[in-house]
Amino acid sequence: MKVIHDLNEIYTQLDFVRCDGKRIGLVPTMGALHSGHLSLVQRAKQDCDVAVATIFVNPTQFGPNEDLSKYPRTLESDLAALRESQCDFVFVPPSDRVYTSGHSTFIEPPSVAKRWEGELRPGHFRGVATVVLKLFQLIPAHVAFFGRKDYQQVAVIRAMVDDLNVPIRIQVCDTIREPDGLAMSSRNRYLSKEDRVRALGLWLALNSARSRLVEGETSSSRLEEAMRQELAKSVDAVDYAVIVHPDTMEPLIQVDETAVAIIAARVGSTRLIDNLTLIANQKTS
Ligand code: AMP
Repeated sequence: MKVIHDLNEIYTQLDFVRCDGKRIGLVPTMGALHSGHLSLVQRAKQDCDVAVATIFVNPTQFGPNEDLSKYPRTLESDLAALRESQCDFVFVPPSDRVYTSGHSTFIEPPSVAKRWEGELRPGHFRGVATVVLKLFQLIPAHVAFFGRKDYQQVAVIRAMVDDLNVPIRIQVCDTIREPDGLAMSSRNRYLSKEDRVRALGLWLALNSARSRLVEGETSSSRLEEAMRQELAKSVDAVDYAVIVHPDTMEPLIQVDETAVAIIAARVGSTRLIDNLTLIANQKTS
């Protein structure tokens, strides 16, 4: 496994690989890796000839009230896990090389970024879209792998790639969960033992919406009420718990076909997000 820090070197090395006819799969991460991240690397290995992971805690996607300095940084164990997963290249660029002192160009995020995370975390998707496009320029990959766990993020990246004709395929991969259902997240490590139990409330709430739909309830407001009732038992604050259209992420009044239940909630001082696809007239999603 090659660990590369230099921005020119990563392009040169992977350009050789690409010219050799090999397919390159890219997995962008902010490090603090868990099995969810590693599942993306495994998928990249399956679908492509060469897997490239990036580890970069992107400062421009953190708001002024979000503590960038507190984001977990575990480079040594991340590299060991990537080696174990047979990742071929890891790109770990220095922050001051990604954003040089004169950097002033940003991506205006697409309309799907407006609500939910976009509203609660102003500037977040501007930072995400900018860094992802920069990574796509630095790494000549054929396919980029993202987790469904960050549902709106994937929608934003898909729209950006379509709108700007970026020549890369976006592959969305399933959310990896703990045995009890909690979505794996780098932030879970901040949960105390008691908060870890309460964090399951997000998954229980998503499942309560699904159960109600299976029972025949298709009104979004009643499905949302079911989620809020479940969340009220465990979490400290709900940022949103809504049923939205799977592509536009606009609120839906009724679940007639496919919808997504999305939740952001706080447990203690940790903010967690999760989602579940809901399909009308089906028992499973
Ligand atoms: P992050 O390092 O949190 O920015 O995440 C990097 C990538 O891993 C993103 O595409 C996430 O959606 C994905 N990811 C994070 N958690 C999970 C999970 N539990 N299952 C699958 N993918 C995940």
